[in-house]
Amino acid sequence: MRILIISDIHANLTALETVLDDAQAQWDYVWCLGDVVGYGPDPNECVELLRTLPHLCLAGNHDWAALGRLDIRTFNPDARKAVNWTSDTLTPDNTAYLEALPTTFVIGDYTLAHGSPREPVWEYILEPLIAALNFSHFETPYCLVGHTHQPVIYEQVSDQGETETIAPSYRQQRQLNGRRLIINPGSVGQPRDQNPDAAYAILDVETNVYEARRVPYDISAVQKRMRQNDLPERLIARLEHGW
Ligand code: ZN
Repeated sequence: MRILIISDIHANLTALETVLDDAQAQWDYVWCLGDVVGYGPDPNECVELLRTLPHLCLAGNHDWAALGRLDIRTFNPDARKAVNWTSDTLTPDNTAYLEALPTTFVIGDYTLAHGSPREPVWEYILEPLIAALNFSHFETPYCLVGHTHQPVIYEQVSDQGETETIAPSYRQQRQLNGRRLIINPGSVGQPRDQNPDAAYAILDVETNVYEARRVPYDISAVQKRMRQNDLPERLIARLEHGW
C-alpha cells in the first residue's frame, strides 16, 4: 500500500490541490499529520477536500487553536487574528470533524504524531538532540511528524542514542533500512525551509520505500484570497519566501 503523506496544509487549498495533481494515482491512502487549518484562506475547502479522500488525519496545534482548545494569548498577534478568523469561518460540520481527530496513531511499522511522539501536539523537533530524546517515546521502527514545516529525516545511528540529520533529496526513492528514523515530510501549505514549493511524500508501507517531493503552486492566487479575507500581511508575504 502506497501512502500519500501530507502535513501542515494550513488552509491552503491551491497547494493541496497541486499536491494531489502532482501525486496523481501513485497512492492508495492518505496520512495527514495535522494542522489542516490555520493561517490560510480556505479552512472549509481543505477539510472538505480531505474528507473526500481515503485518509486518516491527526490533530495539530492550529486545529486545536481553531477549536478554542488552546490559550492563544501566547500566539503572536498575526497568528491570533488568523485563529479567530478560522474559528469564525469553519462550518459546524467541519469543526466537528476537527474535534474528533486523534493526536497520535500507530499503524504497522509507523508511529504518527503532529509534533513529536513525546509531546504530540506541541513539541518541535528542529534538531538532532530533540530527535534523540524522542526515540524512546515510540516503539515502531519509524515515526512520522510534521509541525516544523521543514522536511528532514533524523536517524538513530547508535544504541547510545547518537542521532544524525539527513537532508531531503527530492524525487529520489529512499529504502528505509530498519534503523530507527523520525521523518518529517515538510508542509503542504506554508513551507518554512526557504523553499516556497509545497512539500509532501510518498511512502510504500510494504517495501518501506520513501520519496520526498516538492512542487510549485500558484502562490499569488492564495495571497489574493488572503487579502480578500483581510488576513495579516506578514502571513501573506511569507508564503512566497518559504519562511
Ligand atoms: Zn503547522
